[in-house]
Amino acid sequence: MRRIITINSNQVNKSVETKKVLTEKLINAEFEVTYNFCKDSELIISIGGDGSFLKTVHDFNFPQIPIIGINTGHLGFFPEISPNHIDRFIELYKNNSFLVQDISLIEANIYTNDCKSNMYAINEVVVKGDKSRTIHLNLNVNNKHIQKFSGDGMIISTPTGSTAYNYAAGGSIVDPGLNLMQLTPLYPINTNAYRCFTSSIIFSSDSIIEIIPEYRFEDSILIVIDGVEYRFSQMSDIKISVSDLKIKLLRMFDYEFWSRVSEKFL
Ligand code: NAP
Ligand code: MN
Repeated sequence: MRRIITINSNQVNKSVETKKVLTEKLINAEFEVTYNFCKDSELIISIGGDGSFLKTVHDFNFPQIPIIGINTGHLGFFPEISPNHIDRFIELYKNNSFLVQDISLIEANIYTNDCKSNMYAINEVVVKGDKSRTIHLNLNVNNKHIQKFSGDGMIISTPTGSTAYNYAAGGSIVDPGLNLMQLTPLYPINTNAYRCFTSSIIFSSDSIIEIIPEYRFEDSILIVIDGVEYRFSQMSDIKISVSDLKIKLLRMFDYEFWSRVSEKFL
């Protein structure tokens, strides 16, 4: 039986070297290696940091094949394997010593005057101002108006993304066993002129968050999905929910979320 593994690497020297070493070792272990997405592959290995991991998943269009990373980046919260532990990884993988963890994505439906775009996020969807002015966003949840937000914008993060931008903005780190969305405000204003919630809000996985921008300047809203910016002309409405689409992360048996948080953050 053919056993194909897809490798996707960023262009950093250390990643390119790691890719060469990994390819040789995988071939010695009787795997076939491809560098382009191949639907017959059994595993995707992303080489780089968190940014590369996110890019691999987006570029490969949220594949249903398990994915794992080798960290040659700065933080590397997603990529679990160190370039020094490739031999051990291959041995454990061949012995089926791993788990596959399903990760929920969030889905953003963006409506403009004449079209609808559908996008998926692993970490978060950010709605923020494209100019250096206060933005005003009407927030509805399950068709109920909750507040008019005034400030820099808001982050809607997955549990997976809770340790990224969400955490830097004062949001909570979420146990990956929970299925929810966390809305974290970016510089909310609280004065006699504008009033809105200043803490994060946690929504259940069946909630629909709707954001209706109140334009004071034309096309002044920017959407950022997993660090990539999108601009829409005449955007009227953004609906965000937990998606049915998931991705699969390969986890080695010694992976434990909270130890990883303390190792990477403290
Ligand atoms: P980046 O600007 O290099 O990312 C900022 C940092 O976030 C990097 O150290 C990155 O790790 C880390 N990171 C990404 N996903 C993470 C996660 N799930 N848990 C913990 N840390 C995580 O941009 P990038 O590498 O393309 O990553 C995109 C992400 O950056 C966005 O999804 C957003 O969450 C985050 N971001 C954070 C801030 C902020 O904290 N103020 C601002 C903008 C964007 P690596 O060093 O391994 O890449
Ligand atoms: Mn990065």
